[in-house]
Amino acid sequence: MRVRFWGTRGSIPVSLTWRDLRDRVAQAIVAANGRALDTLEKAHAFAEGELPFSVAGTYGGHSPCVELETGGPSYFVCDMGSGARAFGAHVMARQAGAPAHINVFMSHLHWDHVMGFPFFIPAWVPGSRIRVYGCHPNLEAAFVRQQEPPGFPVGFSRLGAELEFVPLVAGKTVEVEGVRVTPKLQLHGGDSYGYRFEAGGRSVIYSTDSEHKLEDAAESRDFVAFFRDADLVIFDSMYSLAEAVSVKEDWGHSSNMVGVELCQMAGVKHLVLFHHEPAYDDAAIERVLVETRRFEELTREGAALQVSSAYDGLEIPL
Ligand SMILES: [Zn+2]
Ligand SMILES: [Zn+2]
Repeated sequence: MRVRFWGTRGSIPVSLTWRDLRDRVAQAIVAANGRALDTLEKAHAFAEGELPFSVAGTYGGHSPCVELETGGPSYFVCDMGSGARAFGAHVMARQAGAPAHINVFMSHLHWDHVMGFPFFIPAWVPGSRIRVYGCHPNLEAAFVRQQEPPGFPVGFSRLGAELEFVPLVAGKTVEVEGVRVTPKLQLHGGDSYGYRFEAGGRSVIYSTDSEHKLEDAAESRDFVAFFRDADLVIFDSMYSLAEAVSVKEDWGHSSNMVGVELCQMAGVKHLVLFHHEPAYDDAAIERVLVETRRFEELTREGAALQVSSAYDGLEIPL
């Protein structure tokens, strides 16, 4: 399996401004002072190897869309946030004219998780087959509604693909083209669902828009069982712990520290921080990552838990 992140920001897409970019160019020039970077190749190597990611990269702007490459002929993807536009372009290029079969797993129907669908090109192409899986009873209605006037100029009925909405039940495992998929109910306004995917001896958890109550032992046990021995957990860590337990309690999101605790208890190998707060700049997200790794080291009892922060374009082979 390989996991590819197309959208990693929460709530609303963001983009770098000209000021951000100019500031980064200036920082890079200062950092390169005295170095003989006289070719693009040398400059690339310097940017990649010596500049922090918050200067030479960006955690990305698209709202949630995460692809799971399973090795089979069909595509698997979680959520249709604005990252679905880029994912769709990738599908079209890879298919080179052949019809695409795509399985979409919806965490929930909040706007940031469906907004990319009208811009998902395979949905407009006759011959494509798209199955949308989810636990919400109003799954199809939410997709149809966002393309109704006055919100969008072209109606859902004009889409060219063969579309099917497939209801799933929380806690009940289904097999989709050789992949075992188990949804789990999560605490979030209007409910959200996490997914456990298992194929080829690997397991990936997609758990976004999920608030955890640290004091609720039964809830923690439930999630530890859901995460148990996973190779990768993609985790909603929108807030810092201080925010999550004070001002933003009950806002339906979680923190980096809770992610570490649950993953350590479950024996997870790799935790990926996801659904970044739109108000955080790259330096702030990088600080959260450094803090999270430090917290993991301090609280480690068994094997090390690898911690990463998701960005648009990140690929993790498993
Ligand atoms: Zn969200
Ligand atoms: Zn949400």
